[in-house]
Amino acid sequence: MFSFINLQAQYKAYKEEIDLEISKILNQAQFIAAPCVKELESNLSKYIKIKHSISCSNGTSALLAALNAIDIKEDDEIITSAFTFIASAEMIALCKAKVVFVDINMQDLNLDINEVKKAITPKTKAILAVSIFGQMPNLLELKKIAEENNIYLIEDAAQSFGAKDNKNNISGSIAHISTTSFFPSKPLGCYGDGGAVFTNDDFLAEKIRLFVNHGSKQRYLHEIIGVNARLDSIQAAVLNVKLKHFDEELAKRQELAKIYDDNLINCKKIKIKDSYTSVYAQYSILVDDREKIINEFIKNDLPYAVHYPMPLHKQPCFKEYNKLTLKNTEYVCKHIISLPFCAFLDKNNQEKVISMFKNL
Ligand SMILES: *Cc1c(COP(=O)(O)O)cnc(C)c1O
Repeated sequence: MFSFINLQAQYKAYKEEIDLEISKILNQAQFIAAPCVKELESNLSKYIKIKHSISCSNGTSALLAALNAIDIKEDDEIITSAFTFIASAEMIALCKAKVVFVDINMQDLNLDINEVKKAITPKTKAILAVSIFGQMPNLLELKKIAEENNIYLIEDAAQSFGAKDNKNNISGSIAHISTTSFFPSKPLGCYGDGGAVFTNDDFLAEKIRLFVNHGSKQRYLHEIIGVNARLDSIQAAVLNVKLKHFDEELAKRQELAKIYDDNLINCKKIKIKDSYTSVYAQYSILVDDREKIINEFIKNDLPYAVHYPMPLHKQPCFKEYNKLTLKNTEYVCKHIISLPFCAFLDKNNQEKVISMFKNL
């Protein structure tokens, strides 16, 4: 079967190693906080070149831990994109801060930096930049803007783990705090839910580490109010194996993305900025008539997905924003479509998608 993301082929490729590591956990019965969790954190820190990696239960709790660490309060404003998965803005709202949605640019579909500058007020506490589809915005520039205004830059790197900017900085290592997700279909995925928070700041790292474990370092001593948002041992064991193969997978992703780039017609591709890399969490394109293209996918029995069909400011849960207009965001939600993609995409299957576009 031709699936949108071929997680079965990936499992087959690493089966022996993964089964061995999972069976070790099962035999030790140390399901929470086995040594492999610390090992993963140290592997992640080495990989992205950051001082602190704190593993956690998913990308959403990673965002919550990051926002808690910067002490956001009821009147604080946080600038973010409406072209993202709900979690980015959802956690801001859950913290009772004000979400300030800013439009994206039509090149890489990340926040429009000029619009970000215009949206900063004395109440702004942070910019939450989402590295959408696997490519970072210019985070160094955003960080400079943040520091000039004495506010934080947070990167939601749920889709961009492993991506690099034009100075060879890895996603997760630039912002004051960065978060990622190891949801199975993300570029680096585990076998359930998982996530992590990254920072070079010792003080923030300590708060994040406490927050994800009931504010506690020593059992039954609780320094701050927190939650249970730990990463479990089995997920950490799976991630330690997958991280070893991750660069190889990224190379395959880039090779396959180039085949789409070079051969797809009748659509508009998303630009990768000069000397940046994308990890292509999604390989997405813009098409004029999406209804028609979707019908072609269905007719040809090919998998596809739409990330995202509705901008966040039009969601029922954000009804106070429904009248807001964000031109580019709204356009992209109407015209975007994601093609089947992963490191294990079969080239014959990829060719079927390419020919479908040729025959439009
Ligand atoms: C997937 C995702 C999240 C949430 O991650 P979970 O692990 O599913 O909680 C947050 N932000 C973005 C941009 C995502 O793509």
